[in-house]
Amino acid sequence: MSDFAHYKQEIVNTCHTLLQRGYLKATEGNISTRIRGQNAFAITPSNYDYSKMQADDICILDHGTKPIESRMKPSIESGMHAGAYQARPDVHAIIHTHQPYASALALIKMPIPSLFDEQVRFLGRTVDIIPYAPSGTIFLKNAVKSKIMNGNNAYILQNHGVLVFGGDMEHAIHNMALLEKCALTYLLALLSEKKVSKIPFPIREIMFAKLREDQKKFAELS
Ligand SMILES: [Zn+2]
Repeated sequence: MSDFAHYKQEIVNTCHTLLQRGYLKATEGNISTRIRGQNAFAITPSNYDYSKMQADDICILDHGTKPIESRMKPSIESGMHAGAYQARPDVHAIIHTHQPYASALALIKMPIPSLFDEQVRFLGRTVDIIPYAPSGTIFLKNAVKSKIMNGNNAYILQNHGVLVFGGDMEHAIHNMALLEKCALTYLLALLSEKKVSKIPFPIREIMFAKLREDQKKFAELS
């Protein structure tokens, strides 16, 4: 059995879970996980149906996106994932989807302010928009890298989809679902054309401090 079998299986299980829950469709999006202590990560292959995916299809790459163990072509967004793992030692799992409600905000370039306690606790102070760059390019990788140092765990990619981080895969899945809930409720509130209220500033800072504490613990595991 491959040294990476555990990481590969975790990605396959996540793909199947997200497919069932409707967050992933056919071949859209990509999922990765950091391989501890090796400057490497496991990632889904390019343009391959999630319903057929098996552990052997998952690609293992180093942080320069050089294949370590890979019989399939890796996701075209591998560079974006590698950049995030290099820049953020607290990040151990990354989910990129085209989930519809957050993607609607991606079209109107509307960041999500601090709406809910749990949002700030797990996603960060705001969900910012990362400016548009074509998929799979160094321009998108650089746009992501320049934004993610603010320590948040969820971002909206303009005219594209979302990028969500977790200290492990379980947290990444939770954060992705939480982002979609926040995006939907924010869109509904915006439709009312009334003023959207935010959580009080001191509460926001207490919640964000808790997220920072978690991130410090996860960073020590890298
Ligand atoms: Zn995409």
